[in-house]
Amino acid sequence: MSNIIYMDNAATTRVDERVWDAMKPYLTEYYGNPASIYSFAEQAKAGVDQAREIVASGIGAKPQDIYFTGGGSESDNWALKATAEAYKEKGKHIITTAIEHHAILHTCQWLEKEGYEVTYLKVNENGLVDPKDVESAIRPDTILVSVMMANNEIGTVEPIKEIGVITREKGVLFHTDAVQAFGHIPIDVDEMNIDMLSASAHKLNGPKGVGLLYIRKGIKIRSFIHGGAQERQRRAGTLNVPGIVGFGEAAKLAFEKMEERSEYERRLRDHLIERVLQEIPYVRLNGDRDKRLPNNANFCFRFIEGESMLILLDREGICGSSGSACTSGSLDPSHVLLAIGLPHEIAHGSLRLTLSDDNTLDEVNQTVDALKAIIERLRSMSPLYEDFVRKGGEA
Ligand SMILES: *Cc1c(COP(=O)(O)O)cnc(C)c1O
Repeated sequence: MSNIIYMDNAATTRVDERVWDAMKPYLTEYYGNPASIYSFAEQAKAGVDQAREIVASGIGAKPQDIYFTGGGSESDNWALKATAEAYKEKGKHIITTAIEHHAILHTCQWLEKEGYEVTYLKVNENGLVDPKDVESAIRPDTILVSVMMANNEIGTVEPIKEIGVITREKGVLFHTDAVQAFGHIPIDVDEMNIDMLSASAHKLNGPKGVGLLYIRKGIKIRSFIHGGAQERQRRAGTLNVPGIVGFGEAAKLAFEKMEERSEYERRLRDHLIERVLQEIPYVRLNGDRDKRLPNNANFCFRFIEGESMLILLDREGICGSSGSACTSGSLDPSHVLLAIGLPHEIAHGSLRLTLSDDNTLDEVNQTVDALKAIIERLRSMSPLYEDFVRKGGEA
């Protein structure tokens, strides 16, 4: 599939060849169970230990505070459900935002059915949470604040450090879903006062089905998967050794080249955004212009139905998305776009293009050219657009 233009890196990424090379021996050679006593298992155990050290050092954490999981969704579920349970004597109030990933939102909805109360903070028109809103939402019975580090749809990067100051001062636990941020932008769990953090390997050129939850030492949180004594008795199940080693290698590469990579992606992204805004009428950029992930562009085109646009882009070999991969297939517009105040009919015409350092300027230009033609064609078939133009076309 060399002729595709892949611009859906927020949904998942390609496994880097170096990551795959690092993983391979752990499938066929060092296949021992790291919990076993014999020396043959030591290679596997060493691979996991090394990966734990790499992912921990990348976010300023201690290796013993990293717990490997089966992905970002599991980490989010664990962080919320287990702290809710462990701290229910203190209170049953949780604070999150309206723009979280469904791994957080649907978990919160489940907790509400279990008798917890959840405050969903509003965001501004760019998707930013106001730390003051966090502060005023905290009550004596608040046990947890969970705010994502970077939004998976519109790329907005939240003021995590400012929120961390507040939660620390108020003595409330702070979790962040950093699945889109980990390995992409700088993170320091101490500097940001983060108590728990979720990440997932497949969003940084690692394998799917492996993630981590960072849990600061001293936090009462019960195990989520019951069984064996793996992960200091907090997450049972034979370790996914090749996946964890791949996660470690992907993290190593990501942290090493973070600056260079984000600079490259930002340049492509800005070119993409500028061309789209200049060359296509009746379009808006969603998300904060500056406080955004280096690789994210998200637009709404008026008089366009997102799905038709994606299908036509697909015919040109271009992979993009409308909303998030998790909601595609449903007809509801993205909850994130509604939360930033867009009306349904505009939210329906959204397109998310998320780049990687595999993309080239040439691909960006090809994509904008294709997009221009597609938008023109779809609008020419829209009676609403025709009507709008006839009335003088003022927004
Ligand atoms: C992808 C994603 C998840 C889910 O991670 P999986 O490893 O796919 O389960 C959670 N939160 C955010 C922000 C994501 O982008």
